[in-house]
Amino acid sequence: MSESAAVLETVEASPEKRRGLPIGPEKQPERLTAKGHTRHATVVRVGDVPIGGGVPVVIAGPCSVESREQLLTAAEGVKAAGATLLRGGAYKPRTSPYDFQGLGLEALLILREVSERTGLPVVSEVISTEDIEVVSDHVEMLQVGARNMQNFPLLRRLGKVRRPVLLKRSPAATVKEWLLAAEYILAGGNDQVVLCERGIRSYDPELRNTFDIAGMLLAKTMTHLPVIADPSHATGRRDLVPALSRAALAAGADGLIVEVHPHPDRALSDGAQSLDIDTFAAMMQELPGLEQ
Ligand code: PEP
Ligand code: MN
Repeated sequence: MSESAAVLETVEASPEKRRGLPIGPEKQPERLTAKGHTRHATVVRVGDVPIGGGVPVVIAGPCSVESREQLLTAAEGVKAAGATLLRGGAYKPRTSPYDFQGLGLEALLILREVSERTGLPVVSEVISTEDIEVVSDHVEMLQVGARNMQNFPLLRRLGKVRRPVLLKRSPAATVKEWLLAAEYILAGGNDQVVLCERGIRSYDPELRNTFDIAGMLLAKTMTHLPVIADPSHATGRRDLVPALSRAALAAGADGLIVEVHPHPDRALSDGAQSLDIDTFAAMMQELPGLEQ
């Protein structure tokens, strides 16, 4: 049995656990995520890459893994430009059931191979509890997408997994709801959680979402967990990604997750917001505070 399977076996909820965690009147509900809970800001380690605690991290790669060649080209390009973590979706939460849903296990095998070749640890999304074991066996960090931020069974399970978690904010969540979603993971025993602001739902169809820079800053005042920004999903427009990335880091984000594709116009998902490798490399030169 794999390591992650062994971990999962221990989490079937007992009747006591089903009642929820007791909270005294003096305690705030988001007690484990609250800033005062730890003496220092939490540093989350993904492979050998720290997130939080000073130097911003850049996670980059395609929205979806489409082929070995596509991922390898993207990974080598983003690494040469200075990214230290690779992203790539294997299981995709698409709005339409007729859109590309991801290559699943085939994508995970490609991610593993490319990670070993480039030395970049990998972040990839889990969209259901059933995927946690297989995704954990192939990647270093598990992403919870915006659509699953309040998938409580998924969050509970992730509390029992020995993998760091990237928790995206739902487009309709308050900052408190976002922190309480993280609380589920911490309450299960996994304190390796990174929050990601990726834009909230607003009224202007010209933008895919509205990047909530104040919400991101508010989260940073409320929690000891690292908070990063996703300028790609926040805008839906690649022309806005470089300036928004600079703005997020200037405001104090602990890092960025950016969609990069060797041929954005041919991407099977999120091409309109994906940078090509040259544009990503040029953007990296302009970002404040990165370790050179
Ligand atoms: C993604 O990272 O490709 C993704 C689906 O993001 P979000 O959950 O923020 O929409
Ligand atoms: Mn995407």
